[in-house]
Amino acid sequence: MGIKEILSSKRTKTAKMVVALTFKTYLKNREKTFGEFNIEQLKLQLRKIKEESISNLENLKEKTIRNLKEKGIKVFEVRNSEEAKKVLFKIIGKDEVVVKAKSNTINEIGLDLFKGRNRVVETDCGDFIVQFCDEEAIHPVLPALHIPIEKIVKKINEKFKVRLEKSPEKITEWISEHLKKEILKADVGLTGANVISAEGAIFILENEGNISLISRIPKKHVIIAGIDKIVSSTQDAITICQASTIWGTGTSLPAYINVISSPSKTADIAGKEIFGLHGAKEVYLILLDNGRSEAIKNGFGELLYCINCGACLYFCPIYRQIFEKYGLNYFGGRGVGITTFINGIEVAFDRGLYFCTTCRACKENCPLDIDIPELMRKLRKEAVEKGLETEANKRMIENIAVDGNPFGKIEEGKIPKELYCC
Ligand code: SF4
Ligand code: SF4
Repeated sequence: MGIKEILSSKRTKTAKMVVALTFKTYLKNREKTFGEFNIEQLKLQLRKIKEESISNLENLKEKTIRNLKEKGIKVFEVRNSEEAKKVLFKIIGKDEVVVKAKSNTINEIGLDLFKGRNRVVETDCGDFIVQFCDEEAIHPVLPALHIPIEKIVKKINEKFKVRLEKSPEKITEWISEHLKKEILKADVGLTGANVISAEGAIFILENEGNISLISRIPKKHVIIAGIDKIVSSTQDAITICQASTIWGTGTSLPAYINVISSPSKTADIAGKEIFGLHGAKEVYLILLDNGRSEAIKNGFGELLYCINCGACLYFCPIYRQIFEKYGLNYFGGRGVGITTFINGIEVAFDRGLYFCTTCRACKENCPLDIDIPELMRKLRKEAVEKGLETEANKRMIENIAVDGNPFGKIEEGKIPKELYCC
């Protein structure tokens, strides 16, 4: 679908309306929560945590692996999505049922890999709705924001042969019962992670409670996380958890913070340590690079400071027009930036490298103060060197060369035909 069709589609119009409403609530909540913290000091602290961890990532990675292995977690380092898939297939037996939570990193690898091999059930309410409505997620925290309740009820009734009424309470109750049955039957829980402490703990935030269940009930819990999730200490990890919630939802804490530092265990019988009681017997962590080291090496380490709170999206004029079409798996300007290293600059070009207006609204609202517009400029420079340029950009350069300004020939008292800068 071209940009014009995207902009005029009913889906986009609904999404814009709902996002505008959610934005108001978000701002109200956030303003109240900001009042409870020294926000400027917290921002400086966050920046320092990420600067130190990204600049010392190799050492921290080694420390993380050592500490987690000592506690019984099996850790695998993978260079790319292909390697991640191979490791996943070694861990997850053919035909084992997988229950999964919302995770950008899992999306990054691609869930197609399970097709015809394993049954995978989404347990995040929003992602579950997106899946059975044959839709695409539009927001990292609220993926089904754009889907009207009428469509949700219709699809549930058709697909699951029930007769639900158009009530958010009834729909939630039905989804909860349905997913709980699936979780009880599952062999594997598959999740991402929000942050990992090199001291040996994995943090996963949630509001719904599905992650608590899928990380405990199935016998295996597999976590896939980018290496950029690692920070030096547990204290730093807690600070990031809190910031993710403040900037992500405007509240001070999520409903649950899961801290996983070993498989479930007991030594109650004859003093012998046995793994797997009420929680997962086997815990695996797959640490994914997928271009992240390359980003650091090429001077784009700042892209990895991102804690995926999604705050910038609320303020980005481009995201608020085309949503998930701006970026790939990770949305907005930062999403396009990291796509360059995960999927290549050609893909980043197709997913909006030239869409950014460099307005700086994202930077001003980012808890990490990530200079996305500047990073976009640097990436565009690389794109131009590789011959990836928009027609408008080429015309603008020609206009400057010929007429001395980006708009071309300007006639006294007339408005230029094209008003653009890139
Ligand atoms: S600078 Fe670019 S990515 Fe950031 S808010 Fe503006 S348009 Fe969006
Ligand atoms: S770039 Fe900043 S505001 Fe946007 S998701 Fe990342 S941390 Fe949050």
